[in-house]
Amino acid sequence: MVDWSVGRASTVAPVVIPDSEGHVVHLAALLAGSPRPYVLMSEREISVLRRGLTKDGWKRSLYLQPAEDLQPVYTGAGIMSVANRSLEMDTTIPARGGHYHKFFCDCGNRLTIPEDLKPAPQYQCSVCGKSYSGEDFDGAVLYMQHQRLAGAALSLAIVYAIEKDRAYSDKAAEILINYARAYPGPHTDYTTGGILYQSLCEAVWVIPLAQAYDLIYYSRSLNDTDRQLIENQLFRRVADGLKSVGIEGNWGSWHLSAVGVIGLSIKDAELVNYALESLASQLTTQLGEDGLWPESVHTYHFYPLRAFVHLAEGCYRLGIDLYNWEPSPGKSLKAMFTAPLQYMYPSFRLPAINDGWYDSFLPLDLYEIAHRRWDEPAFAWVLKRGYRFGENPLNDDQREHIKAFRRSSFYAFLFGRDLPGRSGTPVFKSHNFKRIGICTLRNDDDVMVTFDYGPFLGHGHLDKLSFTLYANDNLLVPDYGTPGYGSSILGWYTSTASHNTVVVDCKPQQKATDYGLTLHYDGAFLQLAEAKAADHYPGVVQTRRILVVGRWCFVIDLLESSDEHEYDWLIRCEGSPEPAERYEPWDVDCSKYAEIKPTKAYRFFDSCRFDWICKEGNLATAMWTHGAPAELMIGTCPAEIAERRVSLYLCRQRGTTARFTALLAPSRQKGLDISKDGCVIRIAEDDCVDHIYLKDENAALSSSLLQTDGEAAVVRTRAGEIHAIALVNGSWIRWMDELLIECPSKVDYVEVSFGERNPHIRYCCDTAGVMKLRTSARAMRINGHKAAAANSEGQALLRVTSQMLISPGADYLS
Ligand SMILES: [Zn+2]
Ligand SMILES: [Zn+2]
Repeated sequence: MVDWSVGRASTVAPVVIPDSEGHVVHLAALLAGSPRPYVLMSEREISVLRRGLTKDGWKRSLYLQPAEDLQPVYTGAGIMSVANRSLEMDTTIPARGGHYHKFFCDCGNRLTIPEDLKPAPQYQCSVCGKSYSGEDFDGAVLYMQHQRLAGAALSLAIVYAIEKDRAYSDKAAEILINYARAYPGPHTDYTTGGILYQSLCEAVWVIPLAQAYDLIYYSRSLNDTDRQLIENQLFRRVADGLKSVGIEGNWGSWHLSAVGVIGLSIKDAELVNYALESLASQLTTQLGEDGLWPESVHTYHFYPLRAFVHLAEGCYRLGIDLYNWEPSPGKSLKAMFTAPLQYMYPSFRLPAINDGWYDSFLPLDLYEIAHRRWDEPAFAWVLKRGYRFGENPLNDDQREHIKAFRRSSFYAFLFGRDLPGRSGTPVFKSHNFKRIGICTLRNDDDVMVTFDYGPFLGHGHLDKLSFTLYANDNLLVPDYGTPGYGSSILGWYTSTASHNTVVVDCKPQQKATDYGLTLHYDGAFLQLAEAKAADHYPGVVQTRRILVVGRWCFVIDLLESSDEHEYDWLIRCEGSPEPAERYEPWDVDCSKYAEIKPTKAYRFFDSCRFDWICKEGNLATAMWTHGAPAELMIGTCPAEIAERRVSLYLCRQRGTTARFTALLAPSRQKGLDISKDGCVIRIAEDDCVDHIYLKDENAALSSSLLQTDGEAAVVRTRAGEIHAIALVNGSWIRWMDELLIECPSKVDYVEVSFGERNPHIRYCCDTAGVMKLRTSARAMRINGHKAAAANSEGQALLRVTSQMLISPGADYLS
């Protein structure tokens, strides 16, 4: 009996509606009363699926299509064929499995898996041709054999449930019984004991076995003796081992979920209770209040969520709703589904910041579950948009990973329903993920920047203040995550030089300890973030400001120290670089970077420009060093694996202080028109011209059209007419020697959009008063409020009242 009303950590609420006996949930009674199967699917859900399979349609074709050679454990497409193939399978239990991450080449590529999944004398890398042999590699193959057996048991059990043909349940039972007989004993720590090297892998392996057991529990394939054997010799012992290892990090998520799924499948209240308590603890103490798993999002967020879903699905059919449970404010499974939507790139690729596979996309299979458990337009939108990419890929990247966008996953097959014809689109905005320490800058043009300002957390990289840029429907300036942990090149991926930041004296950063975001402004066409770091290089303070204006991305760095240093400003880009002018060839020493191969080097004074010719569109890159001499190296470095190389840009300055102002301007056009006059950068594309003022005390007096007392200001014209203006930390802008805007006091930000009939003003400041604006309009909107202006000779006087004020937003300062 579990009492959820007392003795619980104060933030933990009851997981079920209190019953008539008063806030006490009888887990044991719930379990005893629950009809099987229920851990993966109920009899009702099976009959819905079975009925669906009798009609022609996508599910039936998934069911009947042939399976691929190496099928994942959770098979949607071709499950019948996997089950049929498994009927013939030798179910002798292999020796204890090793570590999958060992099965990687030094270049980062996974070695070719033997077709028969048998240990081989040699394993080859298909990319670089290198071959490997020995125990570690054989161990990885044994690991795969175990996962295949677990997957076979589950596929057999599901096909049995659909077809009610005993041949399938007999074979599934055979696998379970053989495992019960062969199981060598539980884990005693992370890598000792069990049938798999890592307790994590043991947890991943046992869940499908427990789900299969529940599905065939009442089949004639198991008698009481078999059940006793399986429960006592296999499941209880595995659970005991996983419990003893603990619930730290994403391993713990799988440990606790496996214990819970075992508990459900053998109807053991104590194990289920342990899992629920552990889940509460993990969500409370390990999930960030920003809804993200702080180890890394692209891999470690969805990895534990996948484990939790196994547990939550089983509990849901038991009458315990973990989905809508919030053991601590803002921390819930729902938050784990919602938060990544603001974190992903518009193409559904996930920023590969910190450890984890580069090729990571929003997992649509898990969103099938989200769509099923919550009637939320955002989750329906994810599925519709994602599967539309499967039919109409946005870019080559999606084409290459088209499987990630096809509706053929395990959960889609089991539970997928018709998607609604109409559903709202989520609003995507710049967002600050405060716990993991990453903010995004994005706007309507589908430009997105990630900015990593946080400390070094578990699975982190030495990448303080690094950024990525998505534009032109492609990830142009990526972070490549990590290849298999066993690859010898791993150190490159965690080092500073493999990130888009500044390297000091060719050395990696120290592990950062602080956050340091000082500004984060989410505007209409202006996005801004600034972070300061003094914890990554001893004696050096770096301030990086990223400003996104429409599609133009400025990365502005100031490095200060009392000692002389070599500052290397680095980005890599998925395109080929072409100089916009001739620069003086120069010798730039990059020998301290083992993985970087220089191809060309130059030196320049004050400014230089390279354009990256990309598959779709281009990226113009202008660099200004504020009068300082600088060196430039164009070379290559490893992309997501060492064998694929991406072009790299390194700009070096020497001194105690260095300033870099970089403009990354994505455009469909070649040779975008960019110029700089004093503090004003002019970018022209078709009839749209942006004048961007960036304050610089050292710059020569500007003769330019745009003047201001602010730190930054923008005037956008279209066909010669002023279309929008923006001002950061200032009070006025003059344009063509006439006052364009004057605020009653210095504002944090103000933006005016003249595109509509009446100007829209976004005013972030805590002072009310009279604003002057050059316009002949009389009606406007200030922060959404209607406002009337007194207007004479093209100048409007506009009263900003205190009711109209908004603070720059909770998101403004971290
Ligand atoms: Zn290789
Ligand atoms: Zn990284």
